[in-house]
Amino acid sequence: MVLKLLLLLLLAGCSGTDREDVVRETRFIMGTFVTFTIVDLPKNKAIAAIAAAEKEMRRIEALFTIDGDKISPVQQFNQLAVGSTILLPAEVSALLQQSLAIEKASHHSFSPLLGGLIQLWGFSKSELPIQPPDGKAIQRQRVAAHTKWIRQNNKGWQRLHHLLQLDFGAIAKGYAIDQGIAALKKHHVQNAILEAGGDLRVLGAKHGKPWRIGIRHPREKGGVLGWVELQGDHSIVTSGDYERFFVWEGQRFHHIFDPETGRPANIAQSATVIAKDATLADAWSTALFVSGERGLKAVEKANLDGMWVDQNGEMHLTEGMRQKFHPKSQH
Ligand code: ADP
Ligand code: MG
Repeated sequence: MVLKLLLLLLLAGCSGTDREDVVRETRFIMGTFVTFTIVDLPKNKAIAAIAAAEKEMRRIEALFTIDGDKISPVQQFNQLAVGSTILLPAEVSALLQQSLAIEKASHHSFSPLLGGLIQLWGFSKSELPIQPPDGKAIQRQRVAAHTKWIRQNNKGWQRLHHLLQLDFGAIAKGYAIDQGIAALKKHHVQNAILEAGGDLRVLGAKHGKPWRIGIRHPREKGGVLGWVELQGDHSIVTSGDYERFFVWEGQRFHHIFDPETGRPANIAQSATVIAKDATLADAWSTALFVSGERGLKAVEKANLDGMWVDQNGEMHLTEGMRQKFHPKSQH
């Protein structure tokens, strides 16, 4: 949940209407630009719905942030003495449970326990690091990021290792989008896109036609690999090594880690997952980015569609994705 400068220029001042029946508003939430697009609804109603969704997303941000002014429940857990237990808010507890289930289903390629590692590498601050940390420190953090060091009992969640830190950076944005969408639905929005820094969820259609969503090219700035058409209630999320990275001694170090090595995952340039909600799509796109071919099987097993781009720029798709994806070259 750190500032994404990349989108700054693109989206700054991007607020207003395209057509009378399209309302588009951009806000800065969870360290990224969030764009609400609502079609076929009177403007005053769309604006009221957006205000409610924004409020809801800021509430989620306050629950999961690790760099806010006010200490969040997640930070409270991270500061617990070893062996102590904390009763987390029901929503935080539920997302933690879901995250641990995905940790297992993704063969440990997604983990909510990487906070210590991420802080060690320095990716939790808005300024990027300049060099990788010491190898021994990486190993200490890697060992601490294990599910055996966290336990749920009848009093809440227990912290069992002095280096264990939670980090919801790869799932909380998706969850915030889902809660934002729920708020829009409560305000009778039927056709919309809610997009937050590469993660998005659509509702309904655009003037009766499916939403056409481009999948970003990981190496061509502004380019796309192709597109999918989505109609109804779906989410699509892409994770990539181009979002936040620094170069040291000619090597690219980015913000998505392989829990096995404690270092940036190095098999993919990007990974995309389509799911019914953004919580799942967000977590699984990170998992797929880390685990490539093995991840693709796990994505399929979880009944989701996905694709990843390897280091040679080659795309690998699930069967379901193959049916939905339109590569750019064919159009
Ligand atoms: P983005 O935030 O760019 O959309 P992701 O959804 O993939 O990308 O989330 C990356 C963030 O998640 C990192 O900044 C870090 O906080 C955290 N993270 C990094 N590696 C992992 C991982 N393997 N599993 C879970 N969270 C991770
Ligand atoms: Mg993610």
